[in-house]
Amino acid sequence: MKLKLLVLAAATAAAFVPAVAADTAAPHVVAIRAGKLVDVAAGTVLKDQTIIVTGDRITSVGPTASAKVPAGAEEIDLQNQTVLPGLIDMHTHLTADPMLAGYNELGVSDIRAALYGVRAARQTLDAGFTSVRNVGSSGGFGDVALRDAINDGDVIGPRMRAAGYLIGIKGGHCDENLLPADMNVTARGIATGPWEARGKVREAAKYGADVIKICASGGVLSKGDQPGAPEFTPEELQAIVQEAHKLGRKVAAHAHGAEAIRDAIIAGVDSIEHASLIDDEGIKLAKQKGTYLVMDIYDDDFILQEGAKAGILPESLEKEKALGQLQRDNFRKAFKAGVKMAFGTDAGVYPHGDNAKQFYYMVQYGMTPMQAIQAATIDAADLMGWKTNVGSIAAGKFADIVAVKGDPTTDVTVLTKMSFVMKGGAVIRR
Ligand SMILES: [Zn+2]
Repeated sequence: MKLKLLVLAAATAAAFVPAVAADTAAPHVVAIRAGKLVDVAAGTVLKDQTIIVTGDRITSVGPTASAKVPAGAEEIDLQNQTVLPGLIDMHTHLTADPMLAGYNELGVSDIRAALYGVRAARQTLDAGFTSVRNVGSSGGFGDVALRDAINDGDVIGPRMRAAGYLIGIKGGHCDENLLPADMNVTARGIATGPWEARGKVREAAKYGADVIKICASGGVLSKGDQPGAPEFTPEELQAIVQEAHKLGRKVAAHAHGAEAIRDAIIAGVDSIEHASLIDDEGIKLAKQKGTYLVMDIYDDDFILQEGAKAGILPESLEKEKALGQLQRDNFRKAFKAGVKMAFGTDAGVYPHGDNAKQFYYMVQYGMTPMQAIQAATIDAADLMGWKTNVGSIAAGKFADIVAVKGDPTTDVTVLTKMSFVMKGGAVIRR
């Protein structure tokens, strides 16, 4: 057993050699032979391409026939596969265990949640998601700690943008509403009024949040609130957005109801999460302001099938039944109208690593397979603010590269079966 652990540790260390050794030795050079390569920027599929990776970055990509492969480069043969940029999920909760919902979650500390995140991070990366935006860890800053552990090489996982705590109103979706008044429990990110809300943004940034996550409306998996009802007032929303942007942070607004969606877009948030009940006016505003929608249109399946076992409250299951189909229909409507969409799934509500199951629904509800892939690569990178680093296979970007057998541009379901994953030049899975 001990020997096995040592071997595992050695293998783990070896996988990270390119990034770690970059300063001391000549960087490791890899030539990836791609039978097919999805060019997400052009929306086309190229044949017989060679990608040269030096250290953690892509140094060139072009036709194999004319590729100049440096002497001594390691060759990775993906000639029978379709190669894509690493996928990006804009709405995850890596520190959440999907089987600990409702009252089951109450005994979980922020530290324990961060440690759940270690497994979730590995599962997410193994599934081909090389970057995620983690929109909140309910206890506090467990996701920030997880991000730092990944960046330090202590934990294997995707690149993360983390939100820390969620900012919301008292008794709203982002509060802790399961306990009685005599326990006097309020979640850490709760604010009343524009100034307190600004203070919460400043505090989140102080403790390492890359992105600010707020609750603009009620939610499904919380107690006593209504998804259709707005929560923060327009004044509070404007204060939050102004403060976050001043501090260089984007704002992701949880919003199901039409009024909250409109208020949040007008206030200038960067993305609307869920957007279940978006109306014509909201669609028009999102188009005008260039606001992204991040619509989690797969997780309804899991919530309704497995949610009761996980401890999701009966009232939450009722709320999900009322919203699930409307959200899928509104996804179709908003996309058809030309609203920008980024791939996001609410991973943590359903098991980590199943993120790619959502591609099927995005195609079912109006996208071409290429458009769905773009939403999870180049468009997600734009919303992440990482367009120069991730989101496509191009010289200068991180070598975040995945591959599948089959053709995801005709059948997106093959994306649920990743056969090769590289993050920053390190092979994670092959
Ligand atoms: Zn969420």
